[in-house]
Amino acid sequence: MNSSLAPARDIDGKAIAAQVLNEVRDEIAELARQALFPALAVILVGDDPASQVYVRNKLLRAEEVGIRSLEHRLPESTSQAELLQLIAELNADPAVNGILVQLPLPAYIEEHAVIQAIDPLKDVDGFHRENVGGLVHGAEVLTPCTPSGCMRLLQETCGDLRGKHAVVIGRSNIVGKPMATLLLQADCSVSVVHSRSVDAPALCRLADIVVAAVGRPQLIDASWLKPGAVVIDVGINRIETETGTRLVGDVDYASARTVASAITPVPGGVGPMTIAYLLKNTVIATQLQQSR
Ligand code: NAD
Repeated sequence: MNSSLAPARDIDGKAIAAQVLNEVRDEIAELARQALFPALAVILVGDDPASQVYVRNKLLRAEEVGIRSLEHRLPESTSQAELLQLIAELNADPAVNGILVQLPLPAYIEEHAVIQAIDPLKDVDGFHRENVGGLVHGAEVLTPCTPSGCMRLLQETCGDLRGKHAVVIGRSNIVGKPMATLLLQADCSVSVVHSRSVDAPALCRLADIVVAAVGRPQLIDASWLKPGAVVIDVGINRIETETGTRLVGDVDYASARTVASAITPVPGGVGPMTIAYLLKNTVIATQLQQSR
């Protein structure tokens, strides 16, 4: 049971993402006064159905806030050299401010080589080593969108995060590790729980804040949580039901909300924040490029 014995309140990612998008619109208006018009290039290789949906949503949202979007759809047969050539052209084009390569790439293309080829000042996903290193050092760099979105959800929900114990479940380069770094910068005490952790539920029960980024449907239930914990569920997993399929998180929402004080639903929690922070990063990239 949570401390108030009432079910956890939902953290409304759609509403908070709408606030972020309003901020982005204001920043775009300010850039326009300086004759700067942010443009985002999105590259999709192959025809993975989920990636197509993600790319379509990103492009739609970009247009809605006034970011020019440039779509590059390449066939599955595209070679790594052709992809690197396109990235080199986009790097050199001053009218392009952000470059996003939708992952996963076909197996024969080295993801690492492609990410490292992107100009770090145009790397709106924040995956380039230079940005990863800058984040750890606390420099002003482009930061991965999902962890940035989670931080905003936490700030809106908890206010001051200083001194709180945060447990991040998962240690991927795109979510878990940057999430832990951002929480540390917000003066949290941070533990990272992963597939080799001993007694992950016991470690998690020490947390005031839980961020789950595991990719295992409904792994984390009430028994993993301290009463009153704030839970951010990054997971997006499609599961079979009797009537078809549905999306669930890494957290068992129905169980967890009997113990947590606040929780993100899936969908409608972290997902909208990721896109909002991609667009915010495109604005930040445009600003950073002015100082080079
Ligand atoms: P990943 O597969 O790269 O990493 C998963 C991590 O979970 C690993 O570090 C692993 O050590 C850890 N793990 C695996 N099993 C575990 C267990 N039993 N206990 C503790 N830790 C365990 O995944 P990812 O890319 O970080 O994504 C995680 C989830 O977040 C996925 O469901 C993905 O779809 C989702 N995701 C959502 C968004 C969004 O915008 N909402 C963005 C990115 C990823």
